[in-house]
Amino acid sequence: MPSISNSSYTFAYWKNGTERKIARYQKTHSVITLVVGGGTAGLAIASRLAEFASVAVIEAGGLYEQDNGNQSVVPYYGLVMPVLAQTEVYPRQPLVDWDLVSATQVEAGNRKIHYAQGKTLGGSSALNTMAYLRATHGTYQRWADVVGDQSYTFENLLPYFEKSCHFTPPNLEKRNTPDAVPTYDPSVFDNSKGGPVQVSYGNWVDPTVNALSRALRDADLPVSPTGFSSGFLSGYGGWLSSTISPDDAKRSSSQASYLDQAIEKTGLMIYTRAQATRILFDSSKKATGVSVSTQGLDYTISANKEVIVSAGVFHSPQLLLVSGTSKPLSLDSYVNVSQALDPSPHSPLTASP
Ligand SMILES: Cc1cc2nc3c(=O)[nH]c(=O)nc-3n(C[C@H](O)[C@H](O)[C@H](O)COP(=O)(O)OP(=O)(O)OC[C@H]3O[C@@H](n4cnc5c(N)ncnc54)[C@H](O)[C@@H]3O)c2cc1C
Repeated sequence: MPSISNSSYTFAYWKNGTERKIARYQKTHSVITLVVGGGTAGLAIASRLAEFASVAVIEAGGLYEQDNGNQSVVPYYGLVMPVLAQTEVYPRQPLVDWDLVSATQVEAGNRKIHYAQGKTLGGSSALNTMAYLRATHGTYQRWADVVGDQSYTFENLLPYFEKSCHFTPPNLEKRNTPDAVPTYDPSVFDNSKGGPVQVSYGNWVDPTVNALSRALRDADLPVSPTGFSSGFLSGYGGWLSSTISPDDAKRSSSQASYLDQAIEKTGLMIYTRAQATRILFDSSKKATGVSVSTQGLDYTISANKEVIVSAGVFHSPQLLLVSGTSKPLSLDSYVNVSQALDPSPHSPLTASP
């Protein structure tokens, strides 16, 4: 194996098309907390922890602005990006997608389904459809009751929702759709908290939506007066807000929001094109670091305190499995998958064998 001690690498971070900050790091690195996966959850938790701790993120992919260009930046492509096709044969874009294809699905006409998952800084928030909505009071109450923890009620989660985002009402002049005016409840947002994720409304409106809106109105089926973030579902439709930055109409991924904010204010370090291959444990089964591979070069990053696994719904359990912390999986043992997963798809996992 090549020696990599004392090698220093430079990571250039771009914001709004210009280089904003250079973070230097050592290949033989030691940090307090190591976050595996720089996706939606990973960059949020890393940014928060970096406010008071030494934190590094290792991300298998690179920068989507370079690797996927406008397709991940311009919101319209979120609806039509070719790599999101679910057919077994699809236009591959392995620089930002993990190329996951399911086994044959009997219920789907014996087809295999391509299941896009972001492999880039920002993770699937760099590929997704950008819809921003919250579940209802009743849904969260059910969750809280099932897990026996009232922290998960809508009221108790609301401060965290508010802290994570910045809401901008629709630009009615640009939308120019008098029959399709979004409704929303401003009281469930609090921009004074400085949340990084931009929540707004697209300026382009599909013309058929105008007709649909008129049809609902004429049939006496009112649209929701409070939108989809208030915790109440009422009415027969409405307009979803989106994670779009209203200033430049670009996708507000976790990279463009959380990471952009943190890279300016904290010492957060990012390893791109660095794939975790195994979590390392000491004899007392405490996670001590991660084996990493960058284009065939293997190296180790140590974590003094903890390793947080936030590699997504498929790769978090996969990494735990290859690290020896979970029982072998088979198609008829789904119970093992659920044992390895946190109840929330947005929450990271902490490796604690
Ligand atoms: C096509 C699509 C459309 C969607 N539309 C919406 C929507 O409109 N609204 C909505 O709310 N949600 C939507 N979602 C869901 C949402 O994007 C996901 O729930 C969310 O991004 C999951 O976050 P995560 O942090 O768990 O995983 P991800 O964001 O996928 O992050 C996981 C990260 O870990 C990295 N990683 C994995 N393995 C390793 C490894 N071994 N080493 C290093 N890094 C690794 C990955 O490259 C990735 O960056 C959509 C998802 C998809 C795929």
